Amino acid sequence: MAFEVEPLPYDYNALEPYIDEETMHLHHDKHYAAYVNNLNAAIEKHPELGNQSAEDLLRNINQVPEDIRQTVINNGGGAVNHGMFWKIMGPNAGGEPTGAIADVINQNFGGFENFKQQFNAAGAARFGSGWVWLIRSPNGTYEITSTQNQNSPLMEGNFPIFGNDVWEHAYYLKYQNRRPEYLSNWWNVVNWNEINNRLQQANSQG
Ligand code: MN
Repeated sequence: MAFEVEPLPYDYNALEPYIDEETMHLHHDKHYAAYVNNLNAAIEKHPELGNQSAEDLLRNINQVPEDIRQTVINNGGGAVNHGMFWKIMGPNAGGEPTGAIADVINQNFGGFENFKQQFNAAGAARFGSGWVWLIRSPNGTYEITSTQNQNSPLMEGNFPIFGNDVWEHAYYLKYQNRRPEYLSNWWNVVNWNEINNRLQQANSQG
């Protein structure tokens, strides 16, 4: 298998009470695993693609053969987006941002409260399924964006510093139709240390 399902870096119940154990089981073991498995199945027709990371496949999506391009967008995107998502959450997390990400937020979005409000509004406004992101653009600006389905910011040349999953599968068992409540509670499980690692990675890529 070229691509592997990465285990959760904490217990399935570690994000309680904000994200429930049953949601984490279904989300990780079923939804995420299916994206990885479908990506592996797609590249069986073009095994040389397995030598690249899933991130690089998305960065260079127009070089992926057309017969599997949309499948790679959907399932490579699903694999990469969730791989990020599990790591940027954790137990004993949340609170005010720390380190370099705190500076980015304060300098570009007028403080954490304003930033959260804008991020949550973008997540609530995404019609149907998708993600809300803080991205670093190729010219070094920081923006809140949202993408549909499993589309990755990498396909547009943007670096996803972090994002929240607003597919109903991410919250429906606990929050039902109350996406704004999920978005607002989610900040209690955000792992700023890992987000600072990703910010450093974004900046080192120029
Ligand atoms: Mn998901």
